[in-house]
Amino acid sequence: MNSKANRSIGCTVQQCTHHCGSENYCTLDKITVGTHETNPTKIECTDCESFRLKG
Ligand code: SF4
Repeated sequence: MNSKANRSIGCTVQQCTHHCGSENYCTLDKITVGTHETNPTKIECTDCESFRLKG
């Protein structure tokens, strides 16, 4: 389990391979956030494009 939590990137997506595990932080130095919508208007329109499924 990677434990290098980046406290500048909070994240609760435990299913992601980059999640710190014990605490709700990402372990990457940098992530990319994007959208799958043409005109994003709410939080659900945004995505972490650095997500990689664990396992
Ligand atoms: S890559 Fe994105 S989804 Fe994965 S732990 Fe980091 S912030 Fe969360």
